[in-house]
Amino acid sequence: MKRLTLHAVGVTRVVPPHKYPLTYDPTNVFARILRGEIPAKVLHDDEHCMAFYDVTPQAPTHFLVIPKRAIATLSDATTADESLLGHLLVTAANVAKQLGVAEDGSRIVINNGAGAGQTVFHLHVHVLAGRDLAWPPG
Ligand code: 5GP
Repeated sequence: MKRLTLHAVGVTRVVPPHKYPLTYDPTNVFARILRGEIPAKVLHDDEHCMAFYDVTPQAPTHFLVIPKRAIATLSDATTADESLLGHLLVTAANVAKQLGVAEDGSRIVINNGAGAGQTVFHLHVHVLAGRDLAWPPG
């Protein structure tokens, strides 16, 4: 079986490649936040999504926007999720405006699969702002 080697967080881990659709694990940390089982610093909460600060910020402002629908990765989204995906992006932009970080620019990231650095398998949009962000990303 082909395996991917990750160096994203300074350690080498070997992870199996994904087969889609990925089985959604309802015990993942974001599902637990949605159920209120573990706390989060919530910035936005509506019928379809929630935004909260990342617990390990990679920039002065770093928050996440997650759907309430159980979708493991972006590659597991379907055409039925199109309006939801748009809502996640608009919410990301609106929360950035509310926090006053929109004017200087922000980086919107979706790590799609373990090979791209995804560690929590509930779809999420990262929003990073407040420092210079290099391109290309690592
Ligand atoms: P990924 O690597 O999957 O794209 O991003 C997962 C993100 O979730 C990481 O930036 C990580 O810091 C964040 N994270 C992991 N566990 C928790 C948690 O319990 N609470 C919050 N707020 N963020 C978390």
